[in-house]
Amino acid sequence: MRGWSDRDLQRWLKLWQRRLRLQDWGLVARRVATGEMGGRGECRHGLSVRQAVIRIASDLTPDEAEHTLIHELLHCHWSHYAPTGTDRALHEAAIESVAYALRGR
Ligand SMILES: [Zn+2]
Repeated sequence: MRGWSDRDLQRWLKLWQRRLRLQDWGLVARRVATGEMGGRGECRHGLSVRQAVIRIASDLTPDEAEHTLIHELLHCHWSHYAPTGTDRALHEAAIESVAYALRGR
């Protein structure tokens, strides 16, 4: 299985930050060792300052890593929204669907 590097991650970040119209955000994406996070990726954002740090698990395939980055970037657009319970599950499912649609695979 081909891996992916921090250079790949920065290339995907540049591409998807532009496509998702997030150029006015200060975004940092990091590749982190599996086990440092609960899931495949996470996005810690601050809406008031339009900044976010996105972390992507290093053991994902390149396809999964790019998809996860798109998913986490989409969270920036909903950073004002903090659903809980069922609403949260529905919100995550919607973001996941949009991420698949955007990538077309
Ligand atoms: Zn999510």
